[in-house]
Amino acid sequence: MKAKGALPGSDWSPFHITEGVPPERADVVIVGGGVIGWSIAYWLKKKEKSRDSIRVVVVEKDLTYSKASTVLSVGGIRQQYSMPENIHLSLFSANFLRLINEHLGVVNQPPIDIQFNPSGYLFLASDEGAAVLEENVQIQRMEGVLVSLLSPAQLRKKYPWLNTDGVALASYGLQNEGWFDPWTLLNAFRNKALSMGVYQSCGEVTSFDLDTKELLTHEGELMDFSRIKNVNVQMTDSTESTTVECAIVVNAAGAWSSSVAEMAGIGTGLPDSLLAIRLPVEPKKRYVYVWHCPDGPGLECPMLIDTTGAYFRREGVGGNYLGGLSPTEEEEPDIRDLEVDHEFFQDKVWPKLAHRVPHFESLKVRSSWAGYYDYNTFDQSPVIGLHPLVDNLFFATGFSGHGLQQSPAVGQAIAELILDGQFMTINLDTFSFKRIMRGKKAVERNII
Ligand SMILES: Cc1cc2nc3c(=O)[nH]c(=O)nc-3n(C[C@H](O)[C@H](O)[C@H](O)COP(=O)(O)OP(=O)(O)OC[C@H]3O[C@@H](n4cnc5c(N)ncnc54)[C@H](O)[C@@H]3O)c2cc1C
Repeated sequence: MKAKGALPGSDWSPFHITEGVPPERADVVIVGGGVIGWSIAYWLKKKEKSRDSIRVVVVEKDLTYSKASTVLSVGGIRQQYSMPENIHLSLFSANFLRLINEHLGVVNQPPIDIQFNPSGYLFLASDEGAAVLEENVQIQRMEGVLVSLLSPAQLRKKYPWLNTDGVALASYGLQNEGWFDPWTLLNAFRNKALSMGVYQSCGEVTSFDLDTKELLTHEGELMDFSRIKNVNVQMTDSTESTTVECAIVVNAAGAWSSSVAEMAGIGTGLPDSLLAIRLPVEPKKRYVYVWHCPDGPGLECPMLIDTTGAYFRREGVGGNYLGGLSPTEEEEPDIRDLEVDHEFFQDKVWPKLAHRVPHFESLKVRSSWAGYYDYNTFDQSPVIGLHPLVDNLFFATGFSGHGLQQSPAVGQAIAELILDGQFMTINLDTFSFKRIMRGKKAVERNII
């Protein structure tokens, strides 16, 4: 007899879509159903050798995604980085997004439109920043990025609305840069992964059951090495909790990933000598303001990154823009809520914008929101890979302001680590957890 849903005259049948309570056993449990978690789930199924050979569960505590970074991001993708690894991650993602329907399209469902707006990032550098910008461009070109360098005179010709005071040099991306709808990408990964048989569980991972052994390290020290046996999940819509026995756990909990790491004993309670194995990822609140300015830059408006760090881009058409600025360390806002500080715009952001684009003197703020960066306080770069002391816990977190655009490539990288035992497509050893233990920073100079 044919399975329910099978096509007439064919042996093919659709995958069973699961929801709710997780199964009792799984091969991989992914904690966090943001864009990173669902990308990993998709790639694990995509790479499995035979259908249904890997059981993957994604546990997400808030299916409304009210605080998830993914849906509160500004959706940008760029190639202009200083680290070749970041360039390759984004290059891979740009190609993936171009062919998104081939990768993530689902039979009988409408085609995916991520509303991609092709537009270069325009990085402006002052006298002090010009040499670094030029070095970055050299690295980008060596890695295959099409990017141009512009003098202030060229900038004034290309963008007559721009005030070039204090600008010595600029770089502009000619390909593979722009912005898209983050929610659509998240849903596309999720939808596809579900159609491939990934289990979705709506609940909060509250603890792990660990097997811990004291072993001798290569350096001759005795240390605790652990393995997660079970993941305990508090279901969202009931008082019940459930336990999933599993082989591998992935921490893709974004700004909350340190609390998940602590459940595996990586955090509080560690002696001072082992503090370096804590996950140094914290939520940092970032504001996004949307304003209207009928005389502002037109359709040719790039994603502009000012010498001061303030940024803006066009938001649709009709004179709407969005932008913001990362606060200094002293200005870091309280993270207990996602309230927006309007004075921050008034005092810190607007003066910088109005200096760079005089038409912005008369802008009117229309709306705003805040979201959390999953911010790595050690070096602002992601943590990708296995934990050295918990041998079945993988990390994909700490992306700060560029996790959305890197999600297609990062999902594949984690799936390779799990299924092939090593990176096969892009070598991301630089972002391993071990670098934190060794105190070796992976410094990206082009952070926004
Ligand atoms: C204002 C702003 C602008 C940004 N702009 C850009 C941009 O232009 N381009 C770009 O590439 N990136 C940008 N980013 C960064 C990007 O949004 C993030 O790096 C990326 O979305 C991280 O995805 P994630 O899946 O790791 O995290 P999230 O989307 O936060 O997902 C993590 C999920 O884990 C869940 N979770 C946490 N703990 C648990 C638990 N114990 N149990 C179950 N579930 C749990 C959470 O509910 C959450 O849904 C921006 C971020 C912000 C805040």
